[in-house]
Amino acid sequence: MFHVGGAYAGVVSIFLDNHSTTRLDPRVLEAMMPWLTEQYGNAGSTTHEMGRDAREVVDSSRESVASVIGASAREIVFTSGATESNNLAILGTAGRQAGNGHLVTVETEHPAVLDPCDHLKRKGYAVTRLSVEHTTGLVDPAMLETVLRPETFLVSISLANNEIGTIQNLPAIAQRVHACGAVLHADCAQVVGRLPLDMDALGIDLASFSAHKFHGPKGVGALYVRRRGRPVRIDPLVYGGGQERGMRSGTLNVPSIVGMAEAARLAQEHGESESITIRKQRNQLWEILEKDIPEIAINGPRLSHESVRLPNNLNVHVPGVDGQTLLTTLAHEGLAVSAGSACSSENPRPSHVLQAIGLSEDAARASLRFGLSRFTTDQDIQRAAALVVAGVEKLREL
Ligand SMILES: *Cc1c(COP(=O)(O)O)cnc(C)c1O
Repeated sequence: MFHVGGAYAGVVSIFLDNHSTTRLDPRVLEAMMPWLTEQYGNAGSTTHEMGRDAREVVDSSRESVASVIGASAREIVFTSGATESNNLAILGTAGRQAGNGHLVTVETEHPAVLDPCDHLKRKGYAVTRLSVEHTTGLVDPAMLETVLRPETFLVSISLANNEIGTIQNLPAIAQRVHACGAVLHADCAQVVGRLPLDMDALGIDLASFSAHKFHGPKGVGALYVRRRGRPVRIDPLVYGGGQERGMRSGTLNVPSIVGMAEAARLAQEHGESESITIRKQRNQLWEILEKDIPEIAINGPRLSHESVRLPNNLNVHVPGVDGQTLLTTLAHEGLAVSAGSACSSENPRPSHVLQAIGLSEDAARASLRFGLSRFTTDQDIQRAAALVVAGVEKLREL
């Protein structure tokens, strides 16, 4: 195990906000270092050796990322992260529509999916935002079927939710989507290392990934674009030198791509065993909170329903406690957790995901999200639980 702390030792000593980002694995940094220093060739300038070396390492990185998700290398487009990948998938397929078609997404999606869909709606596309089953956040494939139309070109549903960890039944969803001739996009940002990924088995045509969610560097990600079987065509968002088969121009970010590939390899190698440990730690955290905090409740699927909930996610509702105040208290004590998605923490509106699964605004405000990772220790769990219990007691006394 690696020492966690460094510059933040004493400030943030327990990091349980791993749905927002994760620590760069030292092995990833090591793999990146040569490409940040002496090996600075441009993967597009292959008339000399430095460029060819860069091209080769990008090619092998592409192979690695592809193999981790059950794809082939030519189906991987490197991007700046899952936000860009989601935008490229949604706006890129819409750009290919002759008329103004119809697309479907889900109420509980990340803003990086909902916002481009809203943008298309303003442009005249028809957009359906499907509601989810209360409590679990699951999409009902039969209900999805009722909103599909002949002009539906895209359905965008994340494989796993970043707030409550709900894992959707994508194979059943894909069957309906493909029967109506549409394309299935899945935001898979939360999944690498936590679940096995196979694009064919899941029936996914477009998938978004982000390296910093699995101990890689920030600012790099990928879009899987299916070429085998039912090839998908997308328009680019960024035009220029024609890199990434014209789907994403711009000089390739070689060090970050190498880092993403190394992080993916580590996730592939250790993900399954890590997830077993992480699930135990998550369950233990819940057992302590449940024992010591009256009326606390789980948001999202039951923890025992393992096939529909990420092993590293816990989201709880603590009646009568303002989540934001509790967060601030915990932050002072050195515990980093979150109230919802990081992207909206600057304007702390209650989580749209929690409201979509049936919580009131007040209940959503009285909720906390925990995300565990490879670097979470048993001691972290014990200390975090004690801090949350003490914090809740203190706030409830007031
Ligand atoms: C983090 C996250 C994103 C955004 O990814 P970036 O790489 O930070 O742009 C999108 N969707 C989900 C589900 C995420 O968890």
